[in-house]
Amino acid sequence: MAKHQFQTEVGQLLHLMTHSLYSNKEIFIRELVSNASDAIDKLNYLKLTDEKIKAALPEDWAGQITVKIDEEDKSITIVDNGIGMNEEDLIASIGTIAKSGTKSFVENLTGDAKKDSNLIGQFGVGFYSVFMVAEKVDVISKKAGEEQAYKWSSTGTGEFDLSPCTKESSGTVIYIKLKDEEVEDYTSKYRVETVIKKYSNHIAYPINLAYTEEVTEELSEEDKKAGKEAKKTKENRNEKINEATALWMQPKSKIKQDEYNDFYKSISHDSQDPMLTIHTKAEGVNEYTTLFYIPSIAPMDMYRADYQPGVKLYVKRVFITDDEKELLPTYLRFVRGIIDSEDLPLNVSREILQENRVMANIKQSSVKKILGEIKKLSKDEEKYAPFIEQYNRPLKEGAYQDFTNKEAILELLRFKSTKTENAKMTSLSAYKEAADSEQKAIYYIVGENEKVLRNSPLLESYKKNDIEVLILDDKEIDEIVTPMYGAYKEWEFKDITSCEAPKVEQTEEEKKEVEEKYKDVTEKIKEVLGEAVKEVRVTNRLSESPSCVVKDAEDAQMAQMMQMMRAMG
Ligand code: ADP
Ligand code: MG
Repeated sequence: MAKHQFQTEVGQLLHLMTHSLYSNKEIFIRELVSNASDAIDKLNYLKLTDEKIKAALPEDWAGQITVKIDEEDKSITIVDNGIGMNEEDLIASIGTIAKSGTKSFVENLTGDAKKDSNLIGQFGVGFYSVFMVAEKVDVISKKAGEEQAYKWSSTGTGEFDLSPCTKESSGTVIYIKLKDEEVEDYTSKYRVETVIKKYSNHIAYPINLAYTEEVTEELSEEDKKAGKEAKKTKENRNEKINEATALWMQPKSKIKQDEYNDFYKSISHDSQDPMLTIHTKAEGVNEYTTLFYIPSIAPMDMYRADYQPGVKLYVKRVFITDDEKELLPTYLRFVRGIIDSEDLPLNVSREILQENRVMANIKQSSVKKILGEIKKLSKDEEKYAPFIEQYNRPLKEGAYQDFTNKEAILELLRFKSTKTENAKMTSLSAYKEAADSEQKAIYYIVGENEKVLRNSPLLESYKKNDIEVLILDDKEIDEIVTPMYGAYKEWEFKDITSCEAPKVEQTEEEKKEVEEKYKDVTEKIKEVLGEAVKEVRVTNRLSESPSCVVKDAEDAQMAQMMQMMRAMG
């Protein structure tokens, strides 16, 4: 038997799991069942694409998950007949932090137990959640197509043991010795059944609950008369408890919003209901079903380069991948859900996927559909505000990345402006509508601080002329993407720090004349300020303040571009 040390971050996470995350412990069942289902997905796929694996499996192999509870033994066990793990897999998957969700979870830890325990509800932290209830865990696993099985055990402290063992068929057994105080909850048939129904009802494979039941033998009339005591025996029961159907294949009219929400929670690890549910069946040139969700709160890893894509690809109900960032454009990386195609080949590889016409078509239609649903939501500004709060920023990325849908996306954006107050925002179509007939551009000012922007002397001449100016205070992104928008319905975007003020009639000659007149003053100022400024010049942009400082647009551009690219992943 070999002892292994957990990677530092895992140690940290485990410490937290065992010491401070009291709330919502039941989600460990959801996490383990979802891993079991993923493992069966993978084997299902190999069975269809890999002759060797197919030959190694029994003819009638079908994915199946069993949850076994045993009160006397103080244990709960989760068994699957999926792909299994070999020695390296066990070390890599449950000894280190491989997945980004867990990584960002650890990075977001505050040390405040209460805040941290809320974090866990926001996204799953997977396998390690088992240590909220476990005194000790044994993972016994055999990888499909391989001979040797392995046993991994840990008490959730600094290290784990790993040794070869025997196991008949491929798959994984997770044997959990419960902490004393958890035995009552997690060996209760009623409790465990409720948790599975709640989170895993639409897992595509049957989930059986195995338990023992005490039965009292029926006494015959004679025995009763003879005063015989009824004998009690224990019987093993095995009950299928989930729906085990692909929810997205059912007709829309038959699905209740609750069911949609439950399914969302089971695939997203989110504990809140989604903001929007978009279920589409397409028939025609390509046949496919999509079920998309927009989370109420943006995923935590949205601005990380290693964000986890939220859309799973299926081909005829067979899971293909959940690690393909190209299924939707990056600016829609907050969308969760599934795409199930009838036309793609099962053995579709990543390379094929990226060049495949069927996939391109599904992607394009999906984007249109999602943007269309967001548009519907935007008709009611009150309902739309929470969406904007979460997703205005990625949509801004979209407005410059997605050329085909640029106009549609621009219309979805909302902006603060010199004519909106408090939290109110305006749209480009409202801006255009409110402008007077001589205006031909969309004016904006960018910076970090809304208050500072609103007090900018540069706004004076616009206010005087009653021209609305957009206040863009998400500087990191606004500064880069806004000039890239080009135009909205032929109205160009103009940064008021670098464009001429509108409605100030001044010929070139007049301009020269003024410059000449104040030459002494500007030269004097430049002399005093020296290297601190690049240039001092006369302008017509101000109407009340004598002077202001403006930035040099080009110099700073490159640095900002880099900064934003990082933020967008
Ligand atoms: P995630 O499921 O998000 O990848 P987890 O912490 O839940 O994160 O699991 C980590 C990894 O461990 C999985 O990606 C998978 O490779 C492996 N794993 C966990 N449970 C099983 C299982 N029952 N069968 C096969 N592999 C598993
Ligand atoms: Mg998992």
